[in-house]
Amino acid sequence: MPHWSPEGRIRVSLLGATGLVGQEIARRLLDHPWFELGAIAASAGSTGLRYGEAARGGADGLPSALADRRLVRCDPDEAWAPIVLSALDTAAAREIEPQFAEAGALVISNASAFRMEPDVPLIVPEVNPEDLSLLATQRATHGWSGGIVCNPNCVAAIVGLALAPLHQRWGLRALSVTTLQSASGAGYPGVSALDLLGNVVPHIEGEEEKITAELEKLLRLPDQTRIGAQVHRVPVPSGHMASVILECAEKIRLEEAEECLRNWTGAPEARGLPALPQHPIFVSCASDRPQPRLDLWAGDGMTVTVGRLRRDPVLGLRFVVLGHNLVRGAAGAAVANAELVVRGQGPGVRERLSLTPAH
Ligand code: NAP
Repeated sequence: MPHWSPEGRIRVSLLGATGLVGQEIARRLLDHPWFELGAIAASAGSTGLRYGEAARGGADGLPSALADRRLVRCDPDEAWAPIVLSALDTAAAREIEPQFAEAGALVISNASAFRMEPDVPLIVPEVNPEDLSLLATQRATHGWSGGIVCNPNCVAAIVGLALAPLHQRWGLRALSVTTLQSASGAGYPGVSALDLLGNVVPHIEGEEEKITAELEKLLRLPDQTRIGAQVHRVPVPSGHMASVILECAEKIRLEEAEECLRNWTGAPEARGLPALPQHPIFVSCASDRPQPRLDLWAGDGMTVTVGRLRRDPVLGLRFVVLGHNLVRGAAGAAVANAELVVRGQGPGVRERLSLTPAH
């Protein structure tokens, strides 16, 4: 199979296509200007089924152009492409993603399996595109011609985006993050409805550790930065909210913080990528925003909304941020990272990405 489509788009495969994140990636690739969706793959139990049948959660909203396609195994022999977007759960990702990297594919992963490996880039394109250079070390260490690039945990992606402009300008010294995380953050079927309806659960296994460690890696926080997180699962379908309290090395005036967030457009390498909005952060002045129902789809789910920006009597500054966990926190983030990788290859990218797979 050629590695770009007749229209000249680069073919990408999708692993974990049946999950909530996988379905959102598939939707985002349908009319993508650079990418063409090739193989769609999931577990052995889904192999050979129609996508519309196997998609978890009843395939609500899965476009008809995708519903009749057949699922294949997550095996490089069946699903190889120069770019592979992975929405596998963590255990499956740990086993399967290196097989594709070894076979010469660039794997863009949503899973936590390899995020904290020192030679794995953990990327938000507007924040740290330069960390893609870690791929060279990764390839040399493993002898791979492909590689693995990760996007952060959904909270780290959303909160990290809102913190990046402030940290870049004033230097974070202390940070406390309290989250209200939606049901879809747990995948499908996720948390039992009986556990969650009319309730709040103040625990998500391993989440607080992921948020703090990944924010440290993403923002390159100095060792002395104090950071803590407290998480809650709430009965909201989609949209993660976080209350953030922070201290910076320098005293920040409220108006300066607001202007800094409002005007930030991120790293130049990310500007103009098809998946990204011009302004990744929207600052709301309304006293009762952001809200999941009203602000979830800002910037097609790729803009985070910051509100309640105020002085904090303990650490100095506080705000509330909301982002779409399945989009900015996962599917849209992975598509944007794939675009960043392709742009980083420079002219002649299609020729280089069409190299024969190594397997
Ligand atoms: P999900 O709904 O549970 O979907 C998991 C996917 O993995 C399904 O396609 C499933 O295929 C596939 N899978 C499971 N075991 C497999 C195996 N042994 N071999 C091949 N495929 C296998 O999860 P999700 O919410 O979409 O999340 C996907 C990934 O993104 C996870 O790593 C998650 O941590 C991460 N993530 C999720 C969010 C979020 O908000 N949900 C945000 C950021 C990151 P079958 O249907 O065939 O079993």
